[in-house]
Amino acid sequence: MKVLKFGGTSVGSAERIRNVAELISDEQPKIVVLSAMSGTTNTLVEISDCLYQNKKQEALNIIQDLEVNYYITVTELFRTEAYIHKGKEFIQTIFTYLRSFINKDFYPLQEKAVLAQGEIMSTTLMHYYLEECGIDNTLISALEYMRIDKDCEPDYFYIRQNLERELTKTGTSNLIITQGFICRNAYGEIDNLKRGGSDYSAALVGAAIHAEEIQIWTDIDGFHNNDPRFVENTKAIRHLSFEEAAELAYFGAKILHPSSIQPAKKENIPVRLKNTLCPQDEGTLITEDSPAKNIKAVAAKSGITAIKIKSSNMLLAYGFLRKVFEVFEAWKTPIDMIATSEVAVSLTIDNTDNLDNILRDLEKYGIIEVDRDMAIVCIVGDFAAGKAGLDAGHSLWSGYRLKTLFRCRKIRHIRCCRVRRLRHRRRPPYKVRG
Ligand code: ADP
Ligand code: ASP
Ligand code: MG
Repeated sequence: MKVLKFGGTSVGSAERIRNVAELISDEQPKIVVLSAMSGTTNTLVEISDCLYQNKKQEALNIIQDLEVNYYITVTELFRTEAYIHKGKEFIQTIFTYLRSFINKDFYPLQEKAVLAQGEIMSTTLMHYYLEECGIDNTLISALEYMRIDKDCEPDYFYIRQNLERELTKTGTSNLIITQGFICRNAYGEIDNLKRGGSDYSAALVGAAIHAEEIQIWTDIDGFHNNDPRFVENTKAIRHLSFEEAAELAYFGAKILHPSSIQPAKKENIPVRLKNTLCPQDEGTLITEDSPAKNIKAVAAKSGITAIKIKSSNMLLAYGFLRKVFEVFEAWKTPIDMIATSEVAVSLTIDNTDNLDNILRDLEKYGIIEVDRDMAIVCIVGDFAAGKAGLDAGHSLWSGYRLKTLFRCRKIRHIRCCRVRRLRHRRRPPYKVRG
């Protein structure tokens, strides 16, 4: 069994939904994980922002516009009056539900329920469309099997058990449709796997059923050697290892959710990135090993905070780093990069929710310096000739400045690149020479 995930653009219009339906309706058994139609989750975030600020009329206007768009999609998607009616009736229940939040108090719990509606709509429309075409398929709700624990980590045991149970109910159906992104939390409330989380859903589903392959279908012909939104003339990489892909995804390559490689690697399931707009393209294959090549790809992530702890207590001391790490552990904040000398330790984080608490706790260990608004540039490849594996070079940039923190061994040759300020995502593309 394969798991195929289609992103927002892949199901972004009636025509695209029809294209995906064609792609998935061969006889091969598969689970199809869908994102919300492109733009929907952003619009649901806007609605939630209005509701938090009690801007009721503004929220109602946005809900109204989104609803009209969905009615248009329904009219364009279905051929028969019966299914147009069925589709519109379903859309109406969703929008009645969204309007029901207008006169209620609005908290993160309600926001999660609002955000879940995008995937619920896309999967139901796909399910109805396949049904209208006479293609046997079953819709299963991710809310019945996808769950995160108290630390917002996937509950692997629960997912496997409950997904298995849901699948036994699907009878002879070879084509299973389900939602990406949405899940329940440890308290049974509606939650999600964070923005872009449908990739992660697909990987978790794939790992739970020991899928033969996990395919991520998107709007580009695979994993490129740099971010095509910022860099000209990027090229698709045909083969990456799990580590390389995970590293690039974690450090900014938007094509994959940062955590999505982890479940696939755990179960050693190949991940294939494919282009919905051009299905015959080879795409990118991600497996345990990949052919050695110098520099394969570069990714960048902004919004990074660097923390330096200077302390003479570090000299010849043991246990110092453990104490520093315990502070981050206590505040549930992952460290991305670290460099140490005899008298200082520098590290970076991207989650600053508990930064004040962390800094307060670190002060007892030395003098603290904080650099905000930094970016990490991540260079991935195999730089040791004849040696399998991964070497990743990370360097911290602030605008044009190359900072000293550098986790990069055995890099023999980095070609020159001219980089514009990385923190401005909407700037025109910068050029990489060579
Ligand atoms: P989906 O909606 O299918 O999940 P995303 O927008 O999340 O799609 O991811 C695909 C986009 O990721 C591409 O259109 C591209 O602009 C962007 N992207 C960023 N970095 C890379 C990269 N290294 N390779 C390919 N695409 C990338
Ligand atoms: N719809 C969600 C989002 O836009 C999840 C996803 O597309 O992967 O973030
Ligand atoms: Mg995505």
